[in-house]
Amino acid sequence: MTDTACVIYGARDLRFEPRQSAPMGDLSVKVRVRAGGICGSDLHYYFDGRNGDYVIREPLIPGHEFAGEVEAVGARVSRLRVGDRVAVNPSSPCGRCRYCRQGRENLCRRMVFLGSASKFPHIQGGFREVFMVDEANAVPVRRDLPFTTAAFAEPLSVALHAVSRAGALFGRNVLITGAGPIGQLVLLCARRAGAARIVMTDIVDQPLETARRIGADAAINVATHPGDLKDYAASLDGFETIFECAGNHHALRSAFESAGPGAVVVQVGILPAGDIPVLANIAMGRELDWRSSFRFCDEFGAAVDALDRGLIDVAPLLTAAIPATDAASAFDLARDRARSLKVQITF
Ligand SMILES: [Zn+2]
Ligand SMILES: [Zn+2]
Repeated sequence: MTDTACVIYGARDLRFEPRQSAPMGDLSVKVRVRAGGICGSDLHYYFDGRNGDYVIREPLIPGHEFAGEVEAVGARVSRLRVGDRVAVNPSSPCGRCRYCRQGRENLCRRMVFLGSASKFPHIQGGFREVFMVDEANAVPVRRDLPFTTAAFAEPLSVALHAVSRAGALFGRNVLITGAGPIGQLVLLCARRAGAARIVMTDIVDQPLETARRIGADAAINVATHPGDLKDYAASLDGFETIFECAGNHHALRSAFESAGPGAVVVQVGILPAGDIPVLANIAMGRELDWRSSFRFCDEFGAAVDALDRGLIDVAPLLTAAIPATDAASAFDLARDRARSLKVQITF
């Protein structure tokens, strides 16, 4: 049996073409994919042919943020039934290694992560009409939850993990550099976690406007108003917790410069390949904790629950849901930060 998939062959070479569907196993769930979010990593694969250090070496089906409807279940599947709606957890750690046993599954060396060129052969992703997934990775949502909302479970997991890496946020002054979808989701999570003040920075006005709308106390364009962040940081004697969600060294620099003594800086954005300049003496003199946050661990269930119960409202972050036949224009729109936040592909 075949279905149709979005396949990246190399930089700016995306084809919508038939692919062999995976066979059905006893524990398989056949998901009719309905919505899949385009992530920064998908954009890098499509526009650059690589994502940081991961280079496309064979055709890659992108997509690791997707949701759909159960169309069939294997003989031994017990939790799901035909017609259920599910968010697919793209992360399959081995479950046995030291990191998995320590509850740090995101660090598993044998991790299988959908839609990624980190391994060869690549792990094919979910931008296709039909996706066969293990029952354990298909997390049910309410039957009336929009697929476009359920498809936020993965990026929301990333944001929840970043927040858990930061430690307690209640009463703290928080800076988020980078107002992309992950920065915005971190804002929503930090607000729920009780942050006192939350300031968002970016170099594009439109996503900053969204940040204000969803609860940022201030949103600063550091390109057009370079002094404002410095003034704001000075008024607080430095931020206590900073999420670097932009993934570039200018933002990292402003994160360190804006950090108060003893601050925690969480690196969430993926920095470009190669050496990155770091203000090491600021980190030293202020005893900064520079922590990284990579994907997520067991936050996926909590993310689904938060979406299911409406605890986190992701609707303001969804710019458009575009049919897969028009995937290339969806990628174009997703890259245009003045016009879009999260763009999803629908099937
Ligand atoms: Zn992603
Ligand atoms: Zn493992």
